[in-house]
Amino acid sequence: MGRGPRGVYVHVPFCLHKCHYCDFYSIAGDGDGGRRDRRGVFVQRLIEEIRASSAFLGPPIETTFFGGGTPTLLPSGLWKILLAALSDHQPRAADHELTVEANPETVDEPLMEALVAGGVNRLSIGAQSFDPRHLKTLERRHDPARVVRSVQIARRGGIANINIDLIFGIPGQTLEQWLEDLQEVLALEPTHLSCYALSYESNTPLTAKLRAGRIKRIDQDLEARMYEVVIDRLAAAGFEHYEISSWARPGRRCRHNLRYWRNDQWWPLGPAAAGHVAGVRWKNVPHLGRYLREGPLPAITDVERLDEDGRIGEELMLRLRLIEGIECGLLQRLLAAGVRGRERGVAIMRHTDAGNLERSSDRLRLTRRGLLVADSVLADLL
Ligand code: SF4
Repeated sequence: MGRGPRGVYVHVPFCLHKCHYCDFYSIAGDGDGGRRDRRGVFVQRLIEEIRASSAFLGPPIETTFFGGGTPTLLPSGLWKILLAALSDHQPRAADHELTVEANPETVDEPLMEALVAGGVNRLSIGAQSFDPRHLKTLERRHDPARVVRSVQIARRGGIANINIDLIFGIPGQTLEQWLEDLQEVLALEPTHLSCYALSYESNTPLTAKLRAGRIKRIDQDLEARMYEVVIDRLAAAGFEHYEISSWARPGRRCRHNLRYWRNDQWWPLGPAAAGHVAGVRWKNVPHLGRYLREGPLPAITDVERLDEDGRIGEELMLRLRLIEGIECGLLQRLLAAGVRGRERGVAIMRHTDAGNLERSSDRLRLTRRGLLVADSVLADLL
């Protein structure tokens, strides 16, 4: 057994259209046969990178995640070539989890056939909302009916493990509308749900509109209430809340994302993909043109080698995102090792007294109240 990373993240940087809230690296209108279709050369280049990086990985690979961008904008013919190359160069574990992110408008039968034949066993569908008004605010261009259709096509094609992404706290959204979204999504019987509050990233058109007063952020109390109702509603529907924004049917937690929260290693492929190996984090340069010209391994940026104290802070912050929290023995070891151990211990006591953290059996974890202010609690421990 190799000792390299057993997880792989692949970034596919094409989108049909740039959504107003999104700050992921992607090129809109390119790759859809628009200005200049670079999907074919991208896949060839990606295969070159897969070959060159195979010596650093596992084996075997346990989880692979295709994100973006919109991976499902690659046509089925290219998927067949790509997945065959991936399987040739990256030996997979028997229970390998292979996820592809999909936009509802891009899912069709030939695509699903190519994905399943190539080993894809998990689909993550970006629904975001079932209300056309809110999809419009986000500049998502799909019709909510396409979400239903994409789930049906995926199931018929042989994918039983389906995540659906939803966003709440959209300007103008009411609690009732959010409850309706939850009802719609539960009717589709996904195995996993990711529900995020809308975030206003710097340099997005949505944030520019907010600054210009053209949209109004929803009330913070209402946003908190929306988060609480999703916790209650999904618990009542039999989902396990296992990470701040993630819910799963028993046995269906996303193993690839757990790798991130457990501070494990993964290897990045494709422009803008970020990785974490042997205590070093980096990102492939987010530029498709450079990615296509340079190689076989891409140029990298944002290289970060944290010192021991930084690694401890990061591990605490990541592990506390999990609802199970952090095991007390590990917590003690982490606090004893870092130069800021005493400071972090005091912060933990302060948040425990405030009701944001609790010790439950042998673990420290966020309370329900702490989940509502998780960002500030975790920032204090970093
Ligand atoms: S489809 Fe996804 S990745 Fe592409 S612009 Fe929209 S939110 Fe961003």
